[in-house]
Amino acid sequence: MQIILVSRARKLPRILDLADRRLRLKLFVLLAIALLACVGAGVALALTVASPRDRALGQIHDLQQQIRRQNAQLVDVRKDAQRGVNALAVKLGQLQAQSTRLNALGERLAQAAKLDDGEFNFSQPPAVGGVEDSSGRAYALPQVLDSSITRLASQFDIQQAQLSALQSLLLDAKIESNLKPTGMPVQGYISSYFGVRPDPFNGLAAMHTGIDIATPYGTPVHAVAEGMVTFAGVRRGYGNVVEIDHGNGYMTRYAHNSKLEVHPGQHVQVGEVIAKAGSTGRSTGPHVHFEVWYDGRVVNPLAFVRNHR
Ligand SMILES: [Zn+2]
Repeated sequence: MQIILVSRARKLPRILDLADRRLRLKLFVLLAIALLACVGAGVALALTVASPRDRALGQIHDLQQQIRRQNAQLVDVRKDAQRGVNALAVKLGQLQAQSTRLNALGERLAQAAKLDDGEFNFSQPPAVGGVEDSSGRAYALPQVLDSSITRLASQFDIQQAQLSALQSLLLDAKIESNLKPTGMPVQGYISSYFGVRPDPFNGLAAMHTGIDIATPYGTPVHAVAEGMVTFAGVRRGYGNVVEIDHGNGYMTRYAHNSKLEVHPGQHVQVGEVIAKAGSTGRSTGPHVHFEVWYDGRVVNPLAFVRNHR
């Protein structure tokens, strides 16, 4: 079959031969495009003429699906947030337990150091954010947690300050304790006590101003507290004697030594060897005559030698 197209613009008529396969294909494609255009126009027409109510219903349906999707997402977000909040609550509970332990420790320390209770108020109730009485109910309000954490943080600050003050007081107490005569100046046994006793040389009642510690000849004699050597030499009756001023009203004296190991003006630490035991001066055998003076008065050394540092 042949189609002859005649136009004024063209001088010669155009002949389309439908037997040509390529031409047939071209025409088929053109027809298909025209058909699709018709269908599209029809759908558009249908939508235009469809009732507004149906269109609104379709939009509502879409919106509902959208909301359902968003709701599902929100539930997920809530779950995640709740997990975070619950984890925070657990952490807060642990911190509060630590705070309580810290309180107990501080109280024990204050008692051990015999400190004024009013000065260290460790017994004040620890901050609790209702973690213990939540009866398994999940935390809904992050603000509750937030305020609990803030309260707990300030509680920790107070405890920190109290512990620091307590620490410095205890350190002061330790320094103080180093200056206080404590323990025996030499290894041995007490052979004579402080007080009135028969004089070992003439049998007359006489005041014994210290204690005698029997010990082998040459045994090291130790300073019973930190201090400054104020005398190291021979005194009548005492023989070779060392005197130490501890700077806090206390003075100790160690007599009858065979050898002196320190010199006046020397600073000695607790336990430092200051002499070797002997029997110089008014003595019947090797021993250390030990005296403790407080504010210029001789006192019974027994309580001091029986103490432990
Ligand atoms: Zn004596």
